[in-house]
Amino acid sequence: MSNDDQHPHGFETVAIHAGQEPDALTGAVVPPIYQVSTYKQDGVGGLRGGYEYSRSANPTRTALEENLAALEQGRRGLAFASGLAAEDCLLRTVCKPGDHVVIPGDAYGGTFRLFAKVLQRWGVAWTAADMTSPEAVRAALRPETVAVWVETPSNPLLGIADIAALVQVAHGAGALLVVDNTFASPYLQQPLVLGADVVVHSTTKYMGGHSDVVGGALVAADAELGEQLAFHQNSMGGVSGPFDSWLVLRGIKTLGVRMDRHCANASKVAEFLAGHAKVAQVLYPGLPSHPGHEVAAKQMRGFGGMVSFRHADGPDAAVAMCDRTRLFTLGESLGGVESLVEHPGRMTHASAEGSPLEVPADLVRLSVGIESLDDLLEDLGQALG
Ligand SMILES: *Cc1c(COP(=O)(O)O)cnc(C)c1O
Repeated sequence: MSNDDQHPHGFETVAIHAGQEPDALTGAVVPPIYQVSTYKQDGVGGLRGGYEYSRSANPTRTALEENLAALEQGRRGLAFASGLAAEDCLLRTVCKPGDHVVIPGDAYGGTFRLFAKVLQRWGVAWTAADMTSPEAVRAALRPETVAVWVETPSNPLLGIADIAALVQVAHGAGALLVVDNTFASPYLQQPLVLGADVVVHSTTKYMGGHSDVVGGALVAADAELGEQLAFHQNSMGGVSGPFDSWLVLRGIKTLGVRMDRHCANASKVAEFLAGHAKVAQVLYPGLPSHPGHEVAAKQMRGFGGMVSFRHADGPDAAVAMCDRTRLFTLGESLGGVESLVEHPGRMTHASAEGSPLEVPADLVRLSVGIESLDDLLEDLGQALG
């Protein structure tokens, strides 16, 4: 597929075709699963298409990596065994002992754990800051700061950070701006176009979209940083396997239509909850009352499928409500076609308890799926009582 500047293709076209020419040998319209570890060399060093060993490169993974780069409009895409493997690769590429990273005050629990329990032991310092305030981020910068790490919308509080404003703050200090774009997906938001340097994904979520694969990705705006990341990906080895790569590619083909429905259902769920007596507060950037609504409207095509709310009757009622849903499945993760409910304080964000990243105990998080809206509203109504 060619995508020249005169005739750039639309997102859905890129999603379906980028990196996915019909197979040269057979014409198969979908990249085959190259379930293979090594490749015949035509004489020593005579590689066919650059393939040598599947940790270094595998054709199914290459198809995904080219697709990811095109979707985020970056120069280099890399696919990993999980979102956290991608984060670890990025951080060990750009940080050395003595360096410092500014992280979100409500970061994904696993990201926080990676900083607090792993990288800190290797001499990488971090400060948690309120990403909704560029001034707070600027105040958290140190001379040793190498990166500002942003999640927007954030997990699980759905805070909105102004990516373009934070690009200025980070670049002004000579630091990279990293955006975890898992919640939005490139269909709703393209951080590299706004000036960010690297995008991180847990492709486990909306990109895969069917709760059947764990994967991660990095996309770099700059080819040279992309090359360094690829070197570390191969050196550390946390790569996406061929079948997992194929599943993520398959999911991405329907990303646009799925996200449209996730957004439509979530905005109706948010409105329903906002009018419910048992709900104290709804956190959804699509609501005009949300403090980040205007920034979200500026930098996102839609407001996403995640909705969090605080139960009016407190923590025990929040936990009990999670237990009573019938259609919303009680479980961690998000971004699949099926609706999920969870209690962040006891589940996804339990590792942040007692830290600056602790979340309210009366908080319930919904990953609103693409089932029939009436069924979703009825289920929430009966579970809230
Ligand atoms: C799930 C998630 C991750 C971690 O990804 P894994 O695939 O579970 O390793 C990182 N960031 C966000 C926002 C997530 O939701």
